[in-house]
Amino acid sequence: MKAELEAVKATAEKDALTGLKNRGSFDKEIDHVVYNQNKVDAVLIMLNIDHFKRVNDSFGHLVGDRVIRYVSALLTQVMGPEHHVSRYGGEEFAILLTNQSIDTASQLANKVRIAMSNSKLQRKDSGETIGKVTVSAGITVLKTDDNIDSFIDRADKALYEAKETGRNKVVLSE
Ligand code: GH3
Ligand code: MG
Repeated sequence: MKAELEAVKATAEKDALTGLKNRGSFDKEIDHVVYNQNKVDAVLIMLNIDHFKRVNDSFGHLVGDRVIRYVSALLTQVMGPEHHVSRYGGEEFAILLTNQSIDTASQLANKVRIAMSNSKLQRKDSGETIGKVTVSAGITVLKTDDNIDSFIDRADKALYEAKETGRNKVVLSE
């Protein structure tokens, strides 16, 4: 019974396309981090694929889905199991790190960014070149007077700045 319940819970928290944690799971986790935990050293990374619409428009939605899965697998690999890696929506990811400095978070996000900017993606079936797909990220640290919205809002603004200033970038908001 207990094992079955655990399995149902794990499925309910999973994003079907990527196998990452889903939005519902993120919402619970950020609530926990902001309201129940020692507020020191929680970091939020919002990461979004650059010009993703072009991938869909040029190669179709199914290839777009594969690119989302590719980024997801890379995020899982780089962030490791101790951090909450979720699909926030569409082609946007949210990573919550606890007991980490903003510098460590920034190094991890840059690892993902650099790996993607060196990527030469190819269609598995035809070998057709998709080319380089890059990502941008905004990072912020939880402050003592933050609520969920203010915490997410700062990471969003940093991500927006990364996009506005050329993409393929990680921007920190202290
Ligand atoms: P930017 O660099 O500013 O982020 O530009 P963008 O093209 O990545 O962003 P935009 O918001 O214009 O387009 C995102 C696209 O992602 C639009 C939407 O159709 C597509 N999308 C969202 N979810 C999925 C999905 O699950 N699969 C696929 N294939 N496409 C998706
Ligand atoms: Mg995008």
